[in-house]
Amino acid sequence: MTRRFSYDVAVVGGGVAGIAAAVGAAQAGARTVLLERAAYLGGEATNSGVTAFAGVYASGSGGIKVVSGVCDQVLGHLARLGQDTRYGVTASGNLTIKFSPEYLKVALDDIAEEAGVELLFHCQVIGAKTEGTRLLSIECADDSGRFEVEAGAFVDASGDANLAFLSQAPTVWGNHQGQTQVATLSARIDQIDKDADISPSAVEKAILKAKSDGMKHLTKEKGYILRRDQEDFGFALLPSIVLKNLDAKTLSDAERDGRKQALAYVEAFRKYMPGLERCRLVSTGPALGIREGRKMVGLYTLTGEDVVRAVKRPDAVARGGWMPEIHRDPNKMGEYIPVEKGSYFDIPLSALRSIQLENLYGAGRAVSADEVAFASIRVMGTGFATGHAAGVAAAVKARTGEAEIKKVREELLRQNALI
Ligand SMILES: Cc1cc2nc3c(=O)[nH]c(=O)nc-3n(C[C@H](O)[C@H](O)[C@H](O)COP(=O)(O)OP(=O)(O)OC[C@H]3O[C@@H](n4cnc5c(N)ncnc54)[C@H](O)[C@@H]3O)c2cc1C
Repeated sequence: MTRRFSYDVAVVGGGVAGIAAAVGAAQAGARTVLLERAAYLGGEATNSGVTAFAGVYASGSGGIKVVSGVCDQVLGHLARLGQDTRYGVTASGNLTIKFSPEYLKVALDDIAEEAGVELLFHCQVIGAKTEGTRLLSIECADDSGRFEVEAGAFVDASGDANLAFLSQAPTVWGNHQGQTQVATLSARIDQIDKDADISPSAVEKAILKAKSDGMKHLTKEKGYILRRDQEDFGFALLPSIVLKNLDAKTLSDAERDGRKQALAYVEAFRKYMPGLERCRLVSTGPALGIREGRKMVGLYTLTGEDVVRAVKRPDAVARGGWMPEIHRDPNKMGEYIPVEKGSYFDIPLSALRSIQLENLYGAGRAVSADEVAFASIRVMGTGFATGHAAGVAAAVKARTGEAEIKKVREELLRQNALI
């Protein structure tokens, strides 16, 4: 291996958690690199057509904001690009901020550049070197071969705890029984009539009829078509698949199945949904959206009790405010678990730190959480918050040798995080 680079902080994965981690670390003064295998930032927000930030506001709160910091920097940049970043109320009564994935890609490039983050796209992390309780370096591959990145601290923002797994640090697959929430391939459709009823109930009526008429390749009967105001296009989050693992064969079968389902849904919408008679499939994904896969095991595992009882802590580094939302049955809509309305729970630094490696922090979907807590923290608003916290903790660890909670919180507050 001829190429070798050295940084204070290395972040693996450029989804909402990874960008927040990298920007947070760089703003804390760390020389930071972000490694991403796709050609752009955003992760599932851009790569899987998930186009509404949930969890920036507490569930059912009528507008209590629980996430700020890097999330606000991103929203501010989207607004400067002419995007409407006000929240809207969903069919479940919660507040989300809808966005265009293409504008988000540009906004994320810009804020990374402004913070001085080194961005490496088209690069997959394929291995890791450890010594005792420290992660020393990661092995990466691009089209010019392999290279090594050393850093003082690392953030696993890969969604599926790929870095923890490659480092042989403890991880878990799905919930305590090894089940995961279903994966979904988003389908962008256009030519939706302005006044068409695209509510989950209208979708359900159409899909049940299509199924009873024998239409094949349909799974979820009730679900969201995300669209902003009365735009003529939207993202149907319906084709659903249960994943057993993340190997190439399993994911290839799932992607092909998802595309068959997307076509079937468009056919069903055209036939059974008034106002969608002319709708067309514009694009899928690009990739399958994975709600839940592998998670890092942390010093502490956040629990459903922490979430539903809105537990507050002195060692908090992020806030979560979304009702746990579990999609278990590929044919049914996700279910919500009620929480204390208008409140939020605290996420401690110990849920972000690997139980085994002292300089590895998990962020976003990789945070250590049980089934119910995970169903809340996986949303993107909370992903921004845990990413920001993991990045700042990694920067403090790299600079001082210890991610002392007082220093991490001081730096997060200096960067306008809500803690
Ligand atoms: C169908 C669906 C609907 C959803 N609806 C909503 C919603 O309405 N609102 C909401 O807020 N949330 C929603 N979510 C959840 C949310 O989108 C995700 O949980 C969140 O985006 C995850 O962010 P992340 O940064 O943790 O991971 P990801 O977005 O998965 O990002 C991980 C990144 O790491 C990269 N990566 C992984 N491994 C490597 C490697 N080895 N080397 C280099 N790069 C690597 C990946 O390419 C990816 O870009 C939904 C999810 C799905 C699937």
